[in-house]
Amino acid sequence: MATKVYCRVANCVHWDSNKCTAQEITIAVEGAPTNASAVNDRQTECETFKKRD
Ligand code: SF4
Repeated sequence: MATKVYCRVANCVHWDSNKCTAQEITIAVEGAPTNASAVNDRQTECETFKKRD
């Protein structure tokens, strides 16, 4: 289980000084609604991302 998540998505509501402050995050294969295999890192995405207004 990850205890620290470093992130560079600066406009997410959970982002603070290069770290994620969310209690938990979900990472998925981009465009896949269920478990799937990624070919490379660019096919993964953080589904917990929420844009800061
Ligand atoms: S929820 Fe995802 S995108 Fe947002 S700060 Fe955490 S890791 Fe980054």
